[in-house]
Amino acid sequence: MLPYGRQTIEDDDIAAVAEALRGDFLTTGPTVEAFERAFAETVGARHAVACANGTAALHLAMLALKVQPGEVVIAPSITFLATANCARYVGADVVFADVDPDTGLMTPQTLAQAIGHVGDRRLRAVLPVHLRGDVAELPALAALAAAAGAVLVEDAPHALGTTMRFGNAAETVGDVRHSAMATFSFHPVKTIATGEGGMVTTNDPAIAERLRTLRSHGMVRPAGAEPWWYEMPEPGFNYRLPDILCALGLSQLKKLPRFAARRRTLAAAYAEALAPLAPLVRQAVRPAWSDPVLHLMTVLIDFEAAGRSRLEVVEALKARGVGSQVHYIPVHRQPYYRDLYGDLDLPGADAWYARCLSLPLYPGMEDGDVATVVSALRAALKI
Ligand SMILES: *Cc1c(COP(=O)(O)O)cnc(C)c1O
Repeated sequence: MLPYGRQTIEDDDIAAVAEALRGDFLTTGPTVEAFERAFAETVGARHAVACANGTAALHLAMLALKVQPGEVVIAPSITFLATANCARYVGADVVFADVDPDTGLMTPQTLAQAIGHVGDRRLRAVLPVHLRGDVAELPALAALAAAAGAVLVEDAPHALGTTMRFGNAAETVGDVRHSAMATFSFHPVKTIATGEGGMVTTNDPAIAERLRTLRSHGMVRPAGAEPWWYEMPEPGFNYRLPDILCALGLSQLKKLPRFAARRRTLAAAYAEALAPLAPLVRQAVRPAWSDPVLHLMTVLIDFEAAGRSRLEVVEALKARGVGSQVHYIPVHRQPYYRDLYGDLDLPGADAWYARCLSLPLYPGMEDGDVATVVSALRAALKI
């Protein structure tokens, strides 16, 4: 069975974890900082703060910005639940932005529409999601957010390794040139894996310090105080990432260039193999500024024209040993958000959802696997 995504764990990753287990610190030791430094350097940010998972990273970002109850956070509807939920954790309201139906990304147009729904409330943060690994139009989104008094927080778990070019400058996702923070996840399907794990990057030292305090109960140790003394100006959480997992993260991060190259090679093979299936099957559209390390190989299928439902296609793929997944059910359609905000009309998100299907993509795939997947897709669609 080819799953839609999976981790690549090798002997040296296992050895790195074993070494951490034999060391003095299972948690809160020097490997945390080593992983953070290596990660910051990799993406080109000044600071990186490790935490328990990508959801904790988003929650910490909201806390670091001191987002208050009744304030507003804008999130796209096509994303994982956590992008919206982090606003609710701090009592803020979510305004859902629509997405471009062919990229799945929040755009300046859909953000402008969403800002129109903020009303009298205070908008604090806009959370673009680099869906699949392609990057949203950050400079334009940042300008709109700034004009409304808010900052960007990039929810970037799909885009570790993605580079971009706005004008002449080459940039890397996570370098946070247009945003206050970027968040990452090391869940097994993401580009590097620690089982559970997350990271926040920022160029602002005050934000970095707040993130570190808040991930460990909100405890601070004032300079000059007795060695046992700590103070808690505001409650935080236990969102730490243990040394055991930071050791795995460090080992995985060294492989990012290889993992990224393999994902790019597989994506190019998909592009070639899928081209003859148009217009029934199309790839998600790549924005001009984006040079992605794709996390997801999402295709857009016209199920109606094919005369096959998505469920039939998913089951036919499965019968041929090919896993697939839907990224994502629009978050504004979740019962919780319907109860809160009623039935919203976000036609781009609905159009994306109606057609999307993610096919297997991970570094451990063999060369012939792309052809296997595409011929299974042809068979499933009877084309
Ligand atoms: C994976 C993911 C998250 C959550 O990360 P976890 O580590 O699973 O908590 C949040 N947002 C997006 C876009 C993700 O893909």
